[in-house]
Order: sequence, then structure tokens, then C-alpha cells
Amino acid sequence: MEQKLYAGVIVDVRAEAVNRIFQYAVPESLRDTLQIGHRVLVPFGSRKLEGYVVEFSSELDVEPQKLRSILKPLDPEPVILPSLVELARWLAETYAGLFSEALQHMLPPATRYGRERVGVKTAQVVTLLDPQPRLRPNAPAQRRAVEVLRPRGKMLAAELVAVAEISPSTLRALEKQGVVRVEKERVERKVEPDPVADPAVELTPKQQEAVQTILAEMEGPRRPVLLHGVTGSGKTEVYLQVIAEVLRQGKQAIVLVPEIALTPQILNRFAARFKDRVTVLHSALSLGERFDQWCKIREGSVDVVIGARSAVFAPLPRLGLIVLDEEHERTYKQEDGSIRYQTREVAIKRCALVGGQVILGSATPAVESYHKALQGEYVLAELPERVEQRPLPAVEIVDMREEFSQGNRSMFSRRLQEELAALVGTDSQAIILLNRRGFASFVLCRECGQVLNCPNCQVSLTYHKGINRLKCHYCLHQEELPIKCPHCASRYLRQFGVGTEQLQEVLAKEFPQLRSIRLDADTTRRKGAHAAILRQFAQGQAQVLIGTQMVAKGLDFPKVTLVGVLAADLSLRFPDIRSSERTFQLLTQVAGRSGRGELPGKVIVQAYEPTHFAIQTARSHDYLAFYRKEIGFRRALGYPPFRHLTRILCSGPQKEVEEACRAIAAYLLQQGIAERDLMGPFPAPLGRIQGRYRWQVLVKSDLPLAGLNNLPAVHGDVQVTVDFDPQHML
Ligand code: ADP
Ligand code: ZN
Ligand code: ZN
Repeated sequence: MEQKLYAGVIVDVRAEAVNRIFQYAVPESLRDTLQIGHRVLVPFGSRKLEGYVVEFSSELDVEPQKLRSILKPLDPEPVILPSLVELARWLAETYAGLFSEALQHMLPPATRYGRERVGVKTAQVVTLLDPQPRLRPNAPAQRRAVEVLRPRGKMLAAELVAVAEISPSTLRALEKQGVVRVEKERVERKVEPDPVADPAVELTPKQQEAVQTILAEMEGPRRPVLLHGVTGSGKTEVYLQVIAEVLRQGKQAIVLVPEIALTPQILNRFAARFKDRVTVLHSALSLGERFDQWCKIREGSVDVVIGARSAVFAPLPRLGLIVLDEEHERTYKQEDGSIRYQTREVAIKRCALVGGQVILGSATPAVESYHKALQGEYVLAELPERVEQRPLPAVEIVDMREEFSQGNRSMFSRRLQEELAALVGTDSQAIILLNRRGFASFVLCRECGQVLNCPNCQVSLTYHKGINRLKCHYCLHQEELPIKCPHCASRYLRQFGVGTEQLQEVLAKEFPQLRSIRLDADTTRRKGAHAAILRQFAQGQAQVLIGTQMVAKGLDFPKVTLVGVLAADLSLRFPDIRSSERTFQLLTQVAGRSGRGELPGKVIVQAYEPTHFAIQTARSHDYLAFYRKEIGFRRALGYPPFRHLTRILCSGPQKEVEEACRAIAAYLLQQGIAERDLMGPFPAPLGRIQGRYRWQVLVKSDLPLAGLNNLPAVHGDVQVTVDFDPQHML
């Protein structure tokens, strides 16, 4: 073992100039206790700064007279697990970011947002004292709070405020009336599971096989297992059983889901199975509460952590397994900051460092992942059938051009109208997906043909009827619907295309007996609204759930027998190398919401380009056929997984942006990148957002591009972002 004579310390300052490891002497008295990951106080110039020990060495790298000593450790235990220090180093190298920024991901929540540490390991907890209180009739918020609280008796104040959609003052009012008690308590459990039953299921032979495959990998080579199972095939049950085994071995697990709010059902199943050994990282908690939770995880007193993307860094000290559910989802790609990581790769690296196992689960694996499974880099486990032989829903495709030429002017095809009519009077439910919110997608002048655009962004404005205004979906710009065309003063402005809001209105007109409820970014803005809408639908308060791609994800409503998809080919028109893949995934996912209960399901897909292979293969539930076609295109074009793609985006004032982007392209050519591997420089498909112009270069390469932090200096107003294997290119 290296002697701990000198320590490499990353000083916690966010500036490129200090993005290197500084060597300090380790005082004799600290040599036994100081470890990698310890937070320490060090002299730095004339100041004292915090830093993190990232390595030890017995060799001196600086001039002896310049060497200074670590002053003291700031905590008894290392704040960062040594394996997470390694992971941070890898992140910074792989994604051309700062080591210090990478380390931020490994720190407790509070220290990430300021230097203060929240030392209190308590949270505000509300206890219901009077379950049948007399409340004033005009106090609906108080009533909601009591209703939410009643079945549980006690919950986190932050959670109650979010779920019941009340303000803290409502809580104080209830406290004053003696209805509830609010007090600080050490928090024992973060998410109170709805009391769902957890029937002990016997695995199907296919599920058993999958579990065996995973356990065998865990014992041996530990390659990531890609669990490819059709929707409703029992993947979640496989995760549960593998986790149970991991816990039996004294190890711990992380379960990653694309978005916490979208997966209440999965959370409840985990909580029901593993009780208080589970904790859910969710953003409704306050900073102090998240800090407390982080400490419990770091201490090793919870064993299963469920969360979105960033939970991949949860500091479980005995990590044995990471599950990525719906591994193809693009929310797994970090899109902010200098380290734009792909969670899948981080999970695999983290497990490699600690000897853990990775499971990637999906009904529609990312083309990259399936390719790796076929290559033997991952191991494939398949669940080709739904449990209990429930059939996959029959999918019908309707050509909307045909409908139009036959005189049908409705947004619903005749087939969808028939099926909707058949729902009336039954207790079956339907989901209708339209991947576009608002009322009309754009407003066009019929005389001059101009579209009303956002003044800041290169996109059309969307008309929102509820507020009778035009909104930009990329910036905060809003304006009134003008009476006259701003270009030619014509009065013939017309709304074109439809969004979810108009869809709901048309449905109400054509089928007044069908009550509907809408799930999209507009109806879920308030905290807790998302869960509330799903709850209402689950309780049958609405028969039709209308929404954007949000309705396609992971929902399990046994009464849904009909799924309608309007304008299924909308997503094919995005200028993106993954548009076919996204379309196939979306159609397959939403189709999978139908027929999950006793009754078989139907799916009706309306499209203007019905012969496209992404739509045809989704119709036959044929992932392999889709994959073969798509991988052929990727190979021919040199796209991932065959080659790497890097996107360099410049944004800022028009002239400077173009100059900067051209300079970067010239630099890349100079570095030996072939001209045919360079796409651009050209304006990004979204050429202007929030008043800033955007230009980009795309680079294809066989190996991940190294050395990109040496890009040439550009004008100070230009922001340059580098994205490796980007998930979108708008
Ligand atoms: P997926 O995650 O693949 O969509 P789930 O794990 O949610 O599938 O399973 C779908 C449904 O089938 C759930 O209601 C689940 O409780 C049930 N289920 C899963 N495995 C079994 C089994 N072996 N026997 C009976 N029911 C099962
Ligand atoms: Zn006009
Ligand atoms: Zn805008």
C-alpha cells in the first residue's frame, strides 16, 4: 500500500484554473485516519479553502519549499465514498468536464447548493389529531389536507403540502384549530406507500429463467443484463426478486426510473415489498430532508434507493445492483452543465468499480443497447409474452389521407369514432395520445401564408384557448392572439393543427357522455397535480385520459381497453437521427397501456405516413424487425452505435456565433478530423432560442473525442456546449 505521505486534493472552487489536483503534505497525526473522499481544510494562497482528498502518494510532485500541509479533516468519516471519487474522475475524463464539477454530484445535497451544511437530521412532520374535524365550509384547502392525511395519520409536511396542493399557511391554520400537530422529528421513512397488497407471486418459467440469467452473471462475469420484455411481461417482478437476493447477500440496490412523478405505481410495489428498507429520492422534499435522506444512505441504514437519473450517485456503501427501468428513455441523458453523462454508462462504470451488477430493462431497448447485447457486451434476457397469457393488444393503422378524401373532416377516424362510441355506458376506459399540447400548434395567415412566430425563438407560437393567448414553448413569451396579421394586416388568421386542449374540446362535443381528463405539461404544472390526475383516472372519475407522451409511460390501469394515437407520425418529422426509434418506442409504449386487465385491448393509430417502418413494426409488436431495419440505416450512415457522434453547439449573438462555430470547425479539421466526418457548421434546427442564435457542428468519430476541452477561445458572449452522443439535436 502507498504510504499516505502526500494527498492529492481537489480544491472546491468552480473555475478551470483550479481544475487540477494539488498536492499537500499529510500531517503525521492524520496518516492513520485520513482517507480518500475526506473533506479537508487546506491553505490556498492567502486563503483557507475546502477540498476533497482524491488520492495519496509517497512521492513529492512539487518543489519541497512550496509544499503546505492539510490543516484538518472536516468530518470524522469521508464524505465521498472512495469508489465515487473514482467515478468522478472517470466522469470528468469521459465527458470532458471538470473533476471538481464531477465531484459535486457525489456530495450531499445541501453542500451542492451552498457552503452551509444543514446539520439537522429532522424534518417537519404533520400528525392528524382529529380525523373528523369541524371545518369552515369555505376552507377547501383545509379539507383536502385532512383527506390526504386521514388514511396515513402522519406524513412529512413537505409531502402533504405537495400532494394536497395547499400552502404552509393552511397547515398553520389547521394547527391553530388543533386538527393537526406539526413538529420536528427524525424522519423514519420518506414515502408512505399506499397500502397496496403485495401478493406473493410465483414466477413464470420465463421470469425464472431471466432471474437465473441475472444471478449467474452476478456470480461470474457481471456483464450488464438487458432485460427485454414486452409491456406487462413482469419485468418489475424480476427486479423485485433479484433485489431480494441482493439484500439476502447483505448488499444494496439502486433502482432508476425515468421520472419519479410518472411512476407512482412502481414505487408503491417496491415500498410494499421492502418496507422501510426503501427510500425514494424525490424532488418534493426540502433540501434539509434530502440531506437527511442522503446521510441515512451514506450511513448504510437503507438498502434500496429509488430515484431518477441522479440517484445513480446515491452513496450506498454496499452497492450490489443497479436497475435502470425503461433504459431507453431520454431522461437518462444529463442535458445540463459541463458533464452531460449518459446514466446507463455511469451505472455500468460504477458497478464495475464495486463489483456490482447492472440490469437494463425495457420493452423497446435503445438500438445501442440491443446492439451491445447481440455483440455479447451485454447479456440478453427476454420475456416475450405478457403474464397469464394476456394477449398483446391488436393494433390497427388508419391512413388519415384516406379519411380526408372520403370526406371525414373530424380529427377522429371512423374506426376510432366507432370504438369510442362502444365505450359509452361501459366501465372500460380509453387513453388518447396526441404528442402536442395547447389548442392549435400554430396560427397561419391565409392571405400571406406567414406563421406567427415567437419574437425570441425560431419557433411558431402555440395558441392556448384556456387563457386565449399565444405562448412560446421554448421561452416565457406570451401574447394576445392578434386580430390582424402582423405581416399583411389581413383578418384571415387561422389556427392549424390541433393540440391536446382542442382534442379534449372536440371529444366533449362528439362524445358528450365520455368524461375526459387531460395530462400534459400545462395541467401538471403544480406540484402533485400529476399524481392527482392519475388518481382520478384510476378511480374512474374520468373515462378517457387525454395526453401527450406522458400517458405512454409505465401506467398500469387494468380497465383501459382502448388506446387511440392521433398523428402518430408527428415525431417522425423531427430532424433527429433517433426520430424513427422514438416513434417506434412511443407507439409500443402507449399500445402497451391497453388490455392489461381481464379484457383484451385495442389500439388505433392514425397517421399520414402509415407505411413508415417504425409504424408498421410497432403495429406487429415486432421489435426485432424494427431493430434490423434501423441498425441497417445506422450502419450505412455511420451513426451510433457504429461510430460516436459529438455535438458542439454555440449560442449567442448572430455574428459572433457563426464566427465561433466556423473557428471550431476549422480547429477540428486541423486536428486531423476528416471533412466527411464533420457535419456543419450550420444553424441548429432551432436556430434561435430566447433571442440567442444557435449554430452547431456534428462530428463523427470512431473513438470518443478526446481533448475537446482544448477548443479554441471564442468571443466572450458565445456559449459553447459539447455533448457526446447527444440524445437530441435540435
Ligand atoms: P412490466 O414491468 O414488464 O410491465 P409488471 O411486472 O408490471 O410488468 O407485470 C405486469 C402485471 O403482471 C402486474 O400487475 C404484475 O403484478 C403481474 N405479474 C407479474 N409477474 C407475475 C406472475 N409471475 N404471476 C402473476 N402475475 C404477475
Ligand atoms: Zn398575413
Ligand atoms: Zn420563445
